[in-house]
Amino acid sequence: MNKTHLGHTARKRFGQNFLNDEHVIGEIVAAIAPKEGENLVEIGPGLGALTEPVCEEVSALTVVELDRDLAKRLRHHPFHANKLNVVEQDALTLDFEALLSSLPEPSVPLRVFGNLPYNISTPLMFHLFDFANCIADMHFMLQKEVVNRLAAGPGSKSYGRLSVMAQYYCQVMPVLEVPPHAFVPPPKVDSAIVRLIPHRTPPISVNSVNILERICAQAFNQRRKTIRNSLKDSVTEEEILSLGLDPTARAETLSLADFGQLANFVYNKEM
Ligand code: SAM
Repeated sequence: MNKTHLGHTARKRFGQNFLNDEHVIGEIVAAIAPKEGENLVEIGPGLGALTEPVCEEVSALTVVELDRDLAKRLRHHPFHANKLNVVEQDALTLDFEALLSSLPEPSVPLRVFGNLPYNISTPLMFHLFDFANCIADMHFMLQKEVVNRLAAGPGSKSYGRLSVMAQYYCQVMPVLEVPPHAFVPPPKVDSAIVRLIPHRTPPISVNSVNILERICAQAFNQRRKTIRNSLKDSVTEEEILSLGLDPTARAETLSLADFGQLANFVYNKEM
């Protein structure tokens, strides 16, 4: 299989699968709809498949690239070098609030997008959720299965910790499915684009997001058990009943509001 594209040999450790289908690229850029004056940030620009058409629309774009060779290529881009603010760094450790403060219009929230390296996509989304208040929206290419998990509701097989936490922070909208042959080298799985819009006001009021995360993790780590069992280190059966919830229910049937209620109860009990 050919792993060299535009003179660059794809590095597996950096999750490099480069987009190589003009039609798909056009659809992704149309979904992002970049506009002049926005604080656009691309994560993992690679060889510029999305970077270049976005630069056709706007005069400034920040790109965050970990691969030193690719960052260098972008700094020396023949047409767009003067539009690009190249941040050569691991996006997982980037302070997006500080990045926004360093831009000419720091009051305009970030629009983040990228064809993400699949090996870091979930931790990267959790990292970005910490900066939700300085982000207007995000468009990401992910494994289709991850997009299904992000968007899933109670009762679905895909529903889990990622669904609850993503939906606490963001409105989740699947946008487009992308087959493996749109990439070089092709990944082994189907991909999809998702749009995430951080809520200005969270859909539920939670005293401690850490406790919400902990309760979700406990409940879904043993998703086949009843919550009476999986949550026994945090709440008793009587306490679950007092919240109007069924102790014999399983995690996959609880809504975001139910998890919020459990988390707030545990917060009041422990704090
Ligand atoms: N945007 C390009 C495209 O669509 O063809 C490349 C996408 S490729 C799936 C992922 C890109 O993310 C690569 O360029 C890779 O070097 C970069 N990358 C991998 N890990 C990264 C990290 N931790 N922080 C920033 N960029 C990273």
